[in-house]
Amino acid sequence: MGSYRIGVLQGDDIGPEIVPQAVAVLAAAQEVSPGIELEWIDMPIGARAYAETGYTLPPGTLERLAGMDGWILGPLGHAAYRRDDPNAVNPHPLIRRHFDLYANIRPSRSIRGVPALHEDVDLVIVRENNEGMQPDRNMHRGGGEIMPTPDVALSTRVITRRGSQRIARAAFEIARARGETRRAAGLAHPCGERPTVSIIHKRSVFKLTCGLFVDTALEITRDFPEIDVDDFHVDSFAMALAMKPQRFDTVVVTNMFGDILSDLAAGLVGGLGLAPGLNAGDTYAMAQATHGSAPDIAGRNIANPYAIIMSAQMLLAWLGRKHSDPAALSAGEKIERAVHATLARDRIRTPDIGGGATTDAFGRAVIARLRQEG
Ligand code: NAD
Repeated sequence: MGSYRIGVLQGDDIGPEIVPQAVAVLAAAQEVSPGIELEWIDMPIGARAYAETGYTLPPGTLERLAGMDGWILGPLGHAAYRRDDPNAVNPHPLIRRHFDLYANIRPSRSIRGVPALHEDVDLVIVRENNEGMQPDRNMHRGGGEIMPTPDVALSTRVITRRGSQRIARAAFEIARARGETRRAAGLAHPCGERPTVSIIHKRSVFKLTCGLFVDTALEITRDFPEIDVDDFHVDSFAMALAMKPQRFDTVVVTNMFGDILSDLAAGLVGGLGLAPGLNAGDTYAMAQATHGSAPDIAGRNIANPYAIIMSAQMLLAWLGRKHSDPAALSAGEKIERAVHATLARDRIRTPDIGGGATTDAFGRAVIARLRQEG
Protein backbone atom coordinates (compact mmCIF):
# COMPACT_ATOMS: atom_id res chain seq x y z
CA MET A 1 0.00 0.00 0.00
CA GLY A 2 1.53 3.34 -1.07
CA SER A 3 0.92 5.71 1.79
CA TYR A 4 1.85 9.37 1.36
CA ARG A 5 1.81 12.37 3.67
CA ILE A 6 0.97 15.47 1.65
CA GLY A 7 1.29 19.01 2.99
CA VAL A 8 -1.33 21.56 1.94
CA LEU A 9 -0.30 25.22 1.94
CA GLN A 10 -3.14 27.22 0.45
CA GLY A 11 -1.35 30.51 -0.18
CA ASP A 12 -2.94 33.89 -0.88
CA ASP A 13 -5.81 35.45 -2.84
CA ILE A 14 -7.18 32.71 -5.15
CA GLY A 15 -5.13 30.08 -3.25
CA PRO A 16 -7.89 29.16 -0.75
CA GLU A 17 -10.34 28.84 -3.69
CA ILE A 18 -8.25 26.60 -5.96
CA VAL A 19 -6.08 24.50 -3.63
CA PRO A 20 -9.08 22.77 -1.96
CA GLN A 21 -10.17 21.69 -5.48
CA ALA A 22 -6.82 19.98 -6.00
CA VAL A 23 -7.09 18.24 -2.61
CA ALA A 24 -10.66 17.11 -3.36
CA VAL A 25 -9.64 15.74 -6.78
CA LEU A 26 -6.70 13.80 -5.30
CA ALA A 27 -8.97 12.48 -2.54
CA ALA A 28 -11.48 11.30 -5.16
CA ALA A 29 -8.66 9.66 -7.14
CA GLN A 30 -7.70 7.83 -3.96
CA GLU A 31 -11.30 6.55 -3.62
CA VAL A 32 -11.19 5.00 -7.08
CA SER A 33 -7.61 3.72 -6.83
CA PRO A 34 -7.27 0.88 -4.39
CA GLY A 35 -3.74 0.74 -3.04
CA ILE A 36 -2.99 4.35 -2.23
CA GLU A 37 -3.58 6.19 0.97
CA LEU A 38 -3.15 9.95 1.21
CA GLU A 39 -2.85 11.82 4.48
CA TRP A 40 -3.32 15.59 4.33
CA ILE A 41 -1.53 18.04 6.60
CA ASP A 42 -2.76 21.66 6.44
CA MET A 43 -0.17 24.32 7.14
CA PRO A 44 -0.54 28.11 7.16
CA ILE A 45 1.62 30.18 4.84
CA GLY A 46 1.62 33.66 3.33
CA ALA A 47 -0.64 36.54 4.30
CA ARG A 48 -2.93 34.43 6.50
CA ALA A 49 0.03 33.00 8.39
CA TYR A 50 1.42 36.51 8.80
CA ALA A 51 -1.85 37.75 10.27
CA GLU A 52 -1.99 34.79 12.67
CA THR A 53 1.68 34.39 13.64
CA GLY A 54 3.63 37.42 12.43
CA TYR A 55 5.49 35.29 9.85
CA THR A 56 4.67 34.52 6.22
CA LEU A 57 6.73 31.34 6.68
CA PRO A 58 6.05 30.42 10.31
CA PRO A 59 8.96 28.94 12.26
CA GLY A 60 8.90 25.14 12.14
CA THR A 61 7.32 25.00 8.65
CA LEU A 62 10.44 23.66 6.92
CA GLU A 63 10.98 21.06 9.65
CA ARG A 64 7.38 19.86 9.31
CA LEU A 65 7.61 19.72 5.51
CA ALA A 66 10.72 17.53 5.87
CA GLY A 67 8.47 14.87 7.41
CA MET A 68 6.21 14.74 4.35
CA ASP A 69 6.45 13.00 1.00
CA GLY A 70 5.52 16.12 -0.92
CA TRP A 71 3.25 19.12 -0.74
CA ILE A 72 0.93 21.42 -2.65
CA LEU A 73 1.82 25.09 -2.48
CA GLY A 74 -0.83 27.58 -3.53
CA PRO A 75 0.15 30.90 -5.14
CA LEU A 76 1.69 33.57 -2.96
CA GLY A 77 0.85 37.25 -3.39
CA HIS A 78 4.27 38.26 -2.11
CA ALA A 79 4.36 41.58 -4.00
CA ALA A 80 1.81 42.80 -1.44
CA TYR A 81 3.79 41.67 1.65
CA ARG A 82 5.25 44.30 3.96
CA ARG A 83 8.72 45.36 2.86
CA ASP A 84 9.76 46.75 6.21
CA ASP A 85 9.43 43.46 8.12
CA PRO A 86 12.06 40.73 7.72
CA ASN A 87 9.45 38.17 8.84
CA ALA A 88 7.35 38.92 5.75
CA VAL A 89 9.55 36.90 3.38
CA ASN A 90 8.51 35.40 0.07
CA PRO A 91 8.38 31.76 1.19
CA HIS A 92 8.59 29.85 -2.07
CA PRO A 93 12.22 30.52 -3.09
CA LEU A 94 13.26 29.60 0.45
CA ILE A 95 11.36 26.32 0.22
CA ARG A 96 12.75 25.53 -3.24
CA ARG A 97 16.27 26.21 -2.01
CA HIS A 98 15.97 24.49 1.39
CA PHE A 99 14.72 21.23 -0.16
CA ASP A 100 17.01 21.43 -3.18
CA LEU A 101 14.07 21.43 -5.61
CA TYR A 102 16.32 22.16 -8.56
CA ALA A 103 13.96 21.28 -11.42
CA ASN A 104 10.90 23.35 -12.24
CA ILE A 105 8.87 21.29 -14.71
CA ARG A 106 6.25 23.28 -16.60
CA PRO A 107 4.22 21.54 -19.32
CA SER A 108 2.22 23.41 -21.96
CA ARG A 109 -0.37 21.38 -23.76
CA SER A 110 -3.24 22.19 -26.10
CA ILE A 111 -6.62 21.00 -24.94
CA ARG A 112 -9.07 20.06 -27.64
CA GLY A 113 -11.77 22.67 -28.07
CA VAL A 114 -10.28 25.21 -25.65
CA PRO A 115 -9.75 28.49 -27.49
CA ALA A 116 -6.04 29.28 -27.78
CA LEU A 117 -3.51 30.89 -30.10
CA HIS A 118 -2.22 27.45 -31.17
CA GLU A 119 -3.41 23.86 -31.44
CA ASP A 120 -1.49 20.58 -31.10
CA VAL A 121 1.11 21.97 -28.69
CA ASP A 122 2.70 19.42 -26.38
CA LEU A 123 5.91 20.66 -24.83
CA VAL A 124 7.51 20.84 -21.42
CA ILE A 125 9.87 23.48 -20.13
CA VAL A 126 12.45 22.13 -17.67
CA ARG A 127 13.78 25.18 -15.89
CA GLU A 128 16.73 25.28 -13.52
CA ASN A 129 15.20 26.52 -10.29
CA ASN A 130 17.79 27.62 -7.76
CA GLU A 131 20.59 29.57 -9.42
CA GLY A 132 20.79 31.80 -12.52
CA MET A 133 19.61 35.41 -12.15
CA GLN A 134 17.23 34.87 -9.22
CA PRO A 135 18.81 36.93 -6.39
CA ASP A 136 16.43 35.48 -3.79
CA ARG A 137 18.00 32.02 -4.08
CA ASN A 138 21.27 32.11 -6.00
CA MET A 139 23.61 32.85 -3.06
CA HIS A 140 24.63 30.76 -0.07
CA ARG A 141 24.18 33.76 2.19
CA GLY A 142 22.91 37.22 1.31
CA GLY A 143 21.08 38.24 -1.86
CA GLY A 144 22.35 38.20 -5.42
CA GLU A 145 21.78 41.95 -5.85
CA ILE A 146 23.84 44.80 -4.48
CA MET A 147 23.66 48.59 -4.71
CA PRO A 148 27.13 50.06 -4.34
CA THR A 149 25.82 53.64 -4.70
CA PRO A 150 22.26 55.02 -4.77
CA ASP A 151 22.58 55.22 -8.56
CA VAL A 152 24.11 51.84 -9.36
CA ALA A 153 22.47 48.43 -8.92
CA LEU A 154 24.10 45.11 -9.79
CA SER A 155 22.64 41.64 -10.14
CA THR A 156 24.73 38.49 -10.23
CA ARG A 157 24.05 35.45 -12.39
CA VAL A 158 25.20 32.09 -11.04
CA ILE A 159 25.64 29.05 -13.27
CA THR A 160 27.37 25.96 -11.92
CA ARG A 161 28.50 22.76 -13.59
CA ARG A 162 26.59 20.67 -11.04
CA GLY A 163 23.40 22.72 -11.42
CA SER A 164 23.63 22.46 -15.21
CA GLN A 165 24.34 18.72 -15.10
CA ARG A 166 21.37 18.03 -12.85
CA ILE A 167 18.84 20.04 -14.82
CA ALA A 168 20.07 18.64 -18.14
CA ARG A 169 19.83 15.08 -16.83
CA ALA A 170 16.31 15.79 -15.52
CA ALA A 171 15.32 17.14 -18.95
CA PHE A 172 16.72 14.14 -20.84
CA GLU A 173 14.96 11.74 -18.49
CA ILE A 174 11.68 13.61 -18.98
CA ALA A 175 12.17 13.54 -22.77
CA ARG A 176 12.84 9.80 -22.61
CA ALA A 177 9.72 9.19 -20.50
CA ARG A 178 7.60 11.33 -22.82
CA GLY A 179 8.90 9.36 -25.81
CA GLU A 180 8.06 6.06 -24.12
CA THR A 181 4.55 7.24 -23.22
CA ARG A 182 3.91 8.35 -26.80
CA ARG A 183 5.24 5.10 -28.20
CA ALA A 184 3.05 3.05 -25.85
CA ALA A 185 0.00 5.06 -26.92
CA GLY A 186 0.93 4.85 -30.61
CA LEU A 187 1.08 8.65 -30.84
CA ALA A 188 3.48 10.78 -32.84
CA HIS A 189 4.89 14.15 -31.84
CA PRO A 190 5.02 16.89 -34.50
CA CYS A 191 8.76 17.22 -33.78
CA GLY A 192 9.30 13.71 -35.16
CA GLU A 193 9.47 10.15 -33.96
CA ARG A 194 12.47 10.59 -31.68
CA PRO A 195 12.21 12.66 -28.52
CA THR A 196 14.04 15.99 -28.75
CA VAL A 197 15.64 18.18 -26.12
CA SER A 198 16.14 21.84 -27.04
CA ILE A 199 18.81 23.69 -25.05
CA ILE A 200 18.12 27.41 -24.67
CA HIS A 201 20.89 29.95 -24.05
CA LYS A 202 22.46 33.23 -25.11
CA ARG A 203 26.02 32.00 -25.31
CA SER A 204 26.99 34.54 -27.94
CA VAL A 205 26.83 37.15 -25.15
CA PHE A 206 27.01 35.19 -21.89
CA LYS A 207 30.04 33.29 -23.09
CA LEU A 208 31.04 31.87 -19.72
CA THR A 209 27.71 31.31 -17.99
CA CYS A 210 25.56 30.15 -20.92
CA GLY A 211 28.69 28.50 -22.33
CA LEU A 212 29.04 26.35 -19.21
CA PHE A 213 25.33 25.54 -19.26
CA VAL A 214 25.26 24.43 -22.91
CA ASP A 215 28.55 22.51 -22.85
CA THR A 216 27.50 20.66 -19.71
CA ALA A 217 24.09 19.80 -21.18
CA LEU A 218 25.75 18.54 -24.37
CA GLU A 219 27.98 16.21 -22.32
CA ILE A 220 24.85 14.63 -20.82
CA THR A 221 23.58 13.74 -24.33
CA ARG A 222 26.10 10.88 -24.38
CA ASP A 223 23.92 8.97 -21.92
CA PHE A 224 20.80 9.42 -24.06
CA PRO A 225 21.66 8.30 -27.59
CA GLU A 226 18.00 7.82 -28.50
CA ILE A 227 17.24 11.51 -27.97
CA ASP A 228 17.84 14.25 -30.54
CA VAL A 229 19.29 17.56 -29.38
CA ASP A 230 19.18 21.06 -30.76
CA ASP A 231 19.93 24.44 -29.27
CA PHE A 232 18.67 27.99 -29.72
CA HIS A 233 19.58 31.48 -28.68
CA VAL A 234 16.85 32.56 -26.32
CA ASP A 235 15.69 35.44 -28.53
CA SER A 236 15.25 33.36 -31.67
CA PHE A 237 13.70 30.60 -29.56
CA ALA A 238 11.10 33.10 -28.28
CA MET A 239 10.08 33.85 -31.85
CA ALA A 240 10.04 30.18 -32.87
CA LEU A 241 7.99 29.32 -29.79
CA ALA A 242 5.43 32.02 -30.57
CA MET A 243 5.16 31.01 -34.25
CA LYS A 244 5.52 27.22 -34.21
CA PRO A 245 5.36 25.80 -30.69
CA GLN A 246 4.35 22.40 -32.10
CA ARG A 247 7.94 21.72 -33.16
CA PHE A 248 9.19 21.64 -29.52
CA ASP A 249 9.16 18.65 -27.22
CA THR A 250 11.35 19.09 -24.11
CA VAL A 251 13.10 22.39 -23.46
CA VAL A 252 15.93 22.82 -20.94
CA VAL A 253 16.73 26.32 -19.82
CA THR A 254 18.29 28.45 -17.10
CA ASN A 255 16.20 30.00 -14.36
CA MET A 256 15.20 33.50 -15.55
CA PHE A 257 14.85 32.64 -19.24
CA GLY A 258 12.73 29.65 -18.20
CA ASP A 259 10.48 31.75 -16.00
CA ILE A 260 9.67 34.10 -18.86
CA LEU A 261 9.39 31.43 -21.55
CA SER A 262 7.05 29.26 -19.50
CA ASP A 263 4.56 32.13 -19.16
CA LEU A 264 4.84 32.68 -22.91
CA ALA A 265 4.24 28.97 -23.52
CA ALA A 266 1.18 29.12 -21.21
CA GLY A 267 -0.19 32.03 -23.25
CA LEU A 268 -0.02 29.96 -26.43
CA VAL A 269 -2.36 27.25 -25.17
CA GLY A 270 -4.97 29.30 -23.31
CA GLY A 271 -3.29 31.20 -20.48
CA LEU A 272 -1.96 30.86 -16.96
CA GLY A 273 -5.05 29.01 -15.71
CA LEU A 274 -3.83 26.08 -17.84
CA ALA A 275 -0.18 26.13 -16.66
CA PRO A 276 0.70 23.54 -14.05
CA GLY A 277 4.14 23.00 -12.55
CA LEU A 278 6.18 20.76 -10.30
CA ASN A 279 9.30 21.71 -8.37
CA ALA A 280 11.29 18.53 -7.95
CA GLY A 281 14.54 17.44 -6.38
CA ASP A 282 15.91 13.99 -5.65
CA THR A 283 14.06 13.60 -2.35
CA TYR A 284 11.05 15.92 -2.34
CA ALA A 285 8.64 17.51 -4.78
CA MET A 286 6.27 20.45 -4.49
CA ALA A 287 3.21 21.01 -6.68
CA GLN A 288 3.00 24.69 -7.59
CA ALA A 289 1.19 26.21 -10.56
CA THR A 290 3.03 28.68 -12.79
CA HIS A 291 0.58 31.49 -12.10
CA GLY A 292 0.56 33.94 -9.21
CA SER A 293 -2.16 34.69 -6.67
CA ALA A 294 -4.37 36.61 -9.15
CA PRO A 295 -5.61 39.25 -6.67
CA ASP A 296 -7.69 40.82 -9.46
CA ILE A 297 -10.11 37.87 -9.46
CA ALA A 298 -9.75 36.64 -5.86
CA GLY A 299 -12.90 35.92 -3.84
CA ARG A 300 -15.18 35.55 -6.88
CA ASN A 301 -15.06 31.77 -7.34
CA ILE A 302 -14.00 32.17 -10.98
CA ALA A 303 -10.31 31.24 -10.88
CA ASN A 304 -9.33 28.27 -12.98
CA PRO A 305 -8.25 25.40 -10.71
CA TYR A 306 -6.90 23.34 -13.67
CA ALA A 307 -3.29 24.44 -13.13
CA ILE A 308 -3.15 23.54 -9.45
CA ILE A 309 -5.12 20.31 -9.95
CA MET A 310 -2.69 19.21 -12.66
CA SER A 311 0.27 20.33 -10.53
CA ALA A 312 -1.03 18.03 -7.78
CA GLN A 313 -1.47 15.30 -10.43
CA MET A 314 2.19 15.77 -11.38
CA LEU A 315 3.14 15.36 -7.72
CA LEU A 316 1.21 12.09 -7.50
CA ALA A 317 2.84 10.80 -10.70
CA TRP A 318 6.28 11.84 -9.37
CA LEU A 319 5.60 9.89 -6.15
CA GLY A 320 4.49 6.92 -8.23
CA ARG A 321 7.74 6.96 -10.23
CA LYS A 322 9.92 7.55 -7.17
CA HIS A 323 8.39 4.65 -5.24
CA SER A 324 7.72 2.44 -8.28
CA ASP A 325 4.09 2.49 -7.17
CA PRO A 326 1.68 1.46 -9.92
CA ALA A 327 -1.36 2.55 -7.86
CA ALA A 328 -0.09 6.14 -7.59
CA LEU A 329 0.81 6.17 -11.28
CA SER A 330 -2.61 4.85 -12.21
CA ALA A 331 -4.36 7.40 -9.95
CA GLY A 332 -2.34 10.14 -11.69
CA GLU A 333 -3.44 8.87 -15.11
CA LYS A 334 -7.07 8.76 -14.00
CA ILE A 335 -6.92 12.39 -12.85
CA GLU A 336 -5.39 13.45 -16.14
CA ARG A 337 -8.11 11.68 -18.15
CA ALA A 338 -10.90 13.07 -15.96
CA VAL A 339 -9.62 16.65 -16.12
CA HIS A 340 -9.25 16.57 -19.88
CA ALA A 341 -12.64 14.93 -20.37
CA THR A 342 -14.22 17.65 -18.21
CA LEU A 343 -12.69 20.37 -20.38
CA ALA A 344 -12.91 18.81 -23.82
CA ARG A 345 -15.98 16.55 -23.73
CA ASP A 346 -18.13 18.02 -20.95
CA ARG A 347 -17.05 21.54 -21.95
CA ILE A 348 -17.03 22.71 -18.33
CA ARG A 349 -14.67 25.66 -18.30
CA THR A 350 -13.95 28.70 -16.17
CA PRO A 351 -14.26 32.24 -17.65
CA ASP A 352 -10.51 32.68 -18.38
CA ILE A 353 -10.86 30.06 -21.13
CA GLY A 354 -14.22 31.19 -22.42
CA GLY A 355 -16.58 29.25 -20.15
CA GLY A 356 -19.09 30.12 -17.47
CA ALA A 357 -18.24 27.56 -14.78
CA THR A 358 -17.19 28.50 -11.27
CA THR A 359 -14.03 27.22 -9.62
CA ASP A 360 -16.08 24.83 -7.46
CA ALA A 361 -18.19 23.61 -10.37
CA PHE A 362 -15.07 22.65 -12.34
CA GLY A 363 -13.70 20.74 -9.34
CA ARG A 364 -17.02 18.93 -8.82
CA ALA A 365 -17.21 18.01 -12.51
CA VAL A 366 -13.72 16.48 -12.46
CA ILE A 367 -14.63 14.45 -9.39
CA ALA A 368 -17.85 13.26 -11.05
CA ARG A 369 -15.83 12.14 -14.10
CA LEU A 370 -13.33 10.33 -11.88
CA ARG A 371 -16.11 8.46 -10.08
CA GLN A 372 -17.91 7.67 -13.33
CA GLU A 373 -14.85 6.33 -15.14
CA GLY A 374 -13.14 4.89 -12.04
P1 NAD B 1 -0.79 36.37 -11.76
O1 NAD B 1 -0.26 35.12 -12.36
O2 NAD B 1 -1.32 36.29 -10.38
O3 NAD B 1 -1.95 36.96 -12.70
C1 NAD B 1 -1.75 37.33 -14.06
C2 NAD B 1 -3.10 37.28 -14.79
O4 NAD B 1 -3.49 35.91 -14.95
C3 NAD B 1 -4.22 37.96 -14.01
O5 NAD B 1 -5.09 38.60 -14.90
C4 NAD B 1 -4.95 36.81 -13.33
O6 NAD B 1 -6.32 37.04 -13.07
C5 NAD B 1 -4.75 35.69 -14.35
N1 NAD B 1 -4.71 34.37 -13.68
C6 NAD B 1 -3.68 33.87 -12.97
N2 NAD B 1 -4.01 32.66 -12.49
C7 NAD B 1 -5.27 32.41 -12.91
C8 NAD B 1 -6.16 31.31 -12.73
N3 NAD B 1 -5.82 30.21 -12.02
N4 NAD B 1 -7.39 31.38 -13.29
C9 NAD B 1 -7.73 32.44 -14.03
N5 NAD B 1 -6.93 33.51 -14.24
C10 NAD B 1 -5.71 33.50 -13.68
O7 NAD B 1 0.41 37.43 -11.86
P2 NAD B 1 0.53 38.90 -11.21
O8 NAD B 1 -0.78 39.59 -11.27
O9 NAD B 1 1.70 39.49 -11.87
O10 NAD B 1 0.91 38.63 -9.70
C11 NAD B 1 -0.03 38.61 -8.62
C12 NAD B 1 0.71 38.23 -7.33
O11 NAD B 1 1.21 36.90 -7.46
C13 NAD B 1 1.92 39.10 -7.04
O12 NAD B 1 2.00 39.27 -5.63
C14 NAD B 1 3.09 38.29 -7.54
O13 NAD B 1 4.28 38.61 -6.87
C15 NAD B 1 2.63 36.88 -7.20
N6 NAD B 1 3.21 35.79 -7.98
C16 NAD B 1 3.37 34.62 -7.31
C17 NAD B 1 3.82 33.50 -7.99
C18 NAD B 1 3.93 32.20 -7.23
O14 NAD B 1 3.50 32.11 -6.10
N7 NAD B 1 4.50 31.19 -7.85
C19 NAD B 1 4.09 33.57 -9.38
C20 NAD B 1 3.88 34.80 -10.05
C21 NAD B 1 3.41 35.89 -9.34
